[in-house]
Amino acid sequence: MTLSEKVGQMLQLDARGDLTDIVQRKLAGSILHTSPERMHEAIALARRTRLGIPLLTADDCIHGHSFWPGATIFPTQLAMAGSWDPDLVQRAARATAVEVAATGVHWTFSPVLCITRDLRWGRVGETFGEDPHLISELGAAMVRGYQGDGLTDPTAILACAKHFAGYSETQGGRDASEADLSRRKLTSWFLPPFERAVQEGCRTFMLGYQAIDGVPVTANGWLLDEVLKGEWGFRGTLVTDWDNVGRMVWEQKVCADDVEAATVAVRAGNDLVMTTPAFFEAAQEAVARGLLDEGQIDEAARRVLRLKLELGLFENPRPPDLERQRLVIGSAEHADLNLEVARRSLVLLTNDGSLPYAVGDGPRTVAVLGPNADDPQANLGDWAGASGQVDWMPDGHPREAVETVLDGLRAVVPGTWTVSHAGGAEIEMLVPDPDGPLFPDGQPRPPISAGAPVDPDQLAEAVATARAADLAVVVLGDTVALTGEGCSTATLELQGGQVALLDAVVDGLADTDIPVVVVLLHSKPNVLPPSALRAAAVVEAFSPGMRGGRAVAELVLGHIEPAGRLPVSVPRHVGQQPTYYNQVRGQHGHRYADLTQEPQFVFGEGLSYTTVEWSGLTLDATELTPEDIVRAEVTLTNTGQRTAYEVVQAYVTDIVTSVTWATKELKAFRRVIVPPGESVTASIEVPASACSIVDATSRRVVEPGEFELGVGPSSRDAALLRARFAITPVPTAN
Ligand code: BGC
Repeated sequence: MTLSEKVGQMLQLDARGDLTDIVQRKLAGSILHTSPERMHEAIALARRTRLGIPLLTADDCIHGHSFWPGATIFPTQLAMAGSWDPDLVQRAARATAVEVAATGVHWTFSPVLCITRDLRWGRVGETFGEDPHLISELGAAMVRGYQGDGLTDPTAILACAKHFAGYSETQGGRDASEADLSRRKLTSWFLPPFERAVQEGCRTFMLGYQAIDGVPVTANGWLLDEVLKGEWGFRGTLVTDWDNVGRMVWEQKVCADDVEAATVAVRAGNDLVMTTPAFFEAAQEAVARGLLDEGQIDEAARRVLRLKLELGLFENPRPPDLERQRLVIGSAEHADLNLEVARRSLVLLTNDGSLPYAVGDGPRTVAVLGPNADDPQANLGDWAGASGQVDWMPDGHPREAVETVLDGLRAVVPGTWTVSHAGGAEIEMLVPDPDGPLFPDGQPRPPISAGAPVDPDQLAEAVATARAADLAVVVLGDTVALTGEGCSTATLELQGGQVALLDAVVDGLADTDIPVVVVLLHSKPNVLPPSALRAAAVVEAFSPGMRGGRAVAELVLGHIEPAGRLPVSVPRHVGQQPTYYNQVRGQHGHRYADLTQEPQFVFGEGLSYTTVEWSGLTLDATELTPEDIVRAEVTLTNTGQRTAYEVVQAYVTDIVTSVTWATKELKAFRRVIVPPGESVTASIEVPASACSIVDATSRRVVEPGEFELGVGPSSRDAALLRARFAITPVPTAN
């Protein structure tokens, strides 16, 4: 291979550009964001290059095949995390892989293994929430689902653990800001989900945008060489994030020009360079000037080619398969699974007993209100259809493929009932960004979201519609303009006319017995206004996917049980950020002078339509070595009338540590179904080796001593049963 052919293999370029330039002149080894129409053209162009090396095609199929019209769009990662169910998440990823593989895409940039910290960050909805253990388990499940039975399986696609590592540790929620992370803090909480992905065989890793301690991750020898490839033994392929190499020049300004940036990136061991076209000339120039040894390019190109060989692309470039597409894309089987995921993921946050809404005899009217009651994109969330990343789906997914809450209620209520509808408020007006229509790299700058004014006529119509009904369902939340990259929010309040709407409806019905149910369809937690807490019930749905509205309707009418638990804490006020539960011990007190530090709802929380008593926590042994397993049992008694879908959560507290450590950490969880009136004794296991901390020298160790196991339905201290155990050192020979 010539040098240009080898450098070309390292390029991953945006297929929305000039394909002939990308594939035949720059000899790109990989493309992303290829529209269904252009996929065949790209494959054919690659075949006609001198060596005919097949293309590796990639896209962000992060909760379904995001940008394939009519593909199955599942709840977002944050929504799915509410299920606390790795098997279900694995099945969703498998279904995604089956759809994606039929379209000629070989690689999805998923799962996101960032830990949610500051909720102002725009990308919270892409994560599995705030806890490293839950993220590890769900992330590993997704990797298994995507990669299936191995890469030779024609329905397998490559998984990509991203964004390695620490990208979510923003300053004030600002996207891609310098992450103020020590190696110890990274090792403690940010790296474990990625290490787990390596153990699961995740074939590729994507590097975050941000710098840590002054060094962009793209150039971070410690993270890439010592940790990922050294300590963890990762032998897979690395891809940068979008123009990370160029950003070292134009954004972070740590390289004087593209040649220096290319040199730094190759030396650090990057394999694929995403969307930095200048890398093609720059890397060759770096070799010509003696800044890079051609052998370093060979190493990277070899890793890309090895990946293509493993996928068998030289024998079969895995082009789109129209017949398979007809069979699998948006299939009835996947739609059923999607509904199951949505049903298991909804979290019931409050309920004064009005839910499930008692059907009784005779006709009823349900008023469905709010700006997100009938907005398909609010169900799908970011990275789907018209969410802004690609240009070939301006109208999003086919309207009939999405069930909004309004659609869901219309489909589910008995035939004698009426469903009425009024929007009641707008969330935003989109206005041009004052900084101009393009970013410095030529990417379009999206319009910005300005809060919509309150419209008194709309409010009055909504209140009248609600007063004429027997039940009011108010669907509130955010929009894609308030979500995602570059769209972090300064506040966490519901925007536009939404708080005024909820106030008007709750106050306007105060003299009636019409229950008001609040349904939240948004990318990430909002701070709830007092009227939400006075409503009869609050249902957290996040972005529940194509069938989410149907699942919400079933929940409201009691056709299903609430089963989801919060994967992230919900604050009372934006100023409480960050509110994650596993805070480090040692601060003075537990309050601000003007507010409690306690979130509104805590990690792990969620109600059932029944009551469950937890009792009898026992351990089978209380003296263990680090090689043993802490085995506990707990009894759950369903004292109500309906089936309980509980999540048994086990938290470990290390009583005294050599350095400060988290108050408690989730170490195990399992789902338990308890029929009405019955008791179930559930066992749960925590390896003693997992009762570890990261010491002052950044080594993960189990420190012998006393521990406490807390078992219960959430991370709330008052909800946990507790038992003590001790870990003693392993006896040494002699
Ligand atoms: C995002 C990545 C994504 C990539 C490709 C970047 O801007 O940060 O998460 O995979 O674009 O679309």
